[in-house]
Amino acid sequence: MKQGIHPKYNTDGVVCTTCGTRWQIGTTRQNLRVEICSNCHPFYTGEQRIVDTAGQVDRFMKRLSASQDRQAAIEKQRTAKSQPQPKKSLLKELYGDDA
Ligand SMILES: [Zn+2]
Repeated sequence: MKQGIHPKYNTDGVVCTTCGTRWQIGTTRQNLRVEICSNCHPFYTGEQRIVDTAGQVDRFMKRLSASQDRQAAIEKQRTAKSQPQPKKSLLKELYGDDA
């Protein structure tokens, strides 16, 4: 083997950041990490769960609740506007509340 031309060979392995499983492999790269592996992927485990490493579900739920609050406020305004105002009598309209 010629000296000084080959990259360093590591046997550290690959680590899954979701479940922490480690596999021994030989590679020229260091600190290999994967977000999901066959040990924790729902396809292989058979259980239905959402693997949320980036907080996307939390962000979606936050946006959903904000949207629902906005819709409720709009609906409240709409119903308040559509309620007919109690009609003042003609005397009160002409002379104000004092009459
Ligand atoms: Zn995993």
